[in-house]
Amino acid sequence: MKKRSSNDLINDLIDEGRVKLHKFQPSGRELWTVIGNYGDHLIFIDGDYCSCRGFYFSLMRQKSSSCYHLKAYKIAKQSKKYSSIEISDYDYETFFKLLTKSIKKQIELD
Ligand SMILES: [Zn+2]
Repeated sequence: MKKRSSNDLINDLIDEGRVKLHKFQPSGRELWTVIGNYGDHLIFIDGDYCSCRGFYFSLMRQKSSSCYHLKAYKIAKQSKKYSSIEISDYDYETFFKLLTKSIKKQIELD
């Protein structure tokens, strides 16, 4: 199989609408996720944190860290090519439970 560049991966994430903005109402709280290759959610807080292992390891190596999810998020946000979902504040807790479950599963997989 041909090895794909990280630019290809970033473009795929954006084109497939895997960059998602979750808008909580009525608080207006915003939360971004990207659906990764294993179908799992990756979370960003203000675009400077990602829950994937790539981000974790780059954080250990250097002060400024990034990963292709964060890069995809930045491009998608800039070009407004993301999916937007509105969620009630009442579902905030459930949403977080599912998200942490999904992240945990992914760490265990690796
Ligand atoms: Zn990441």
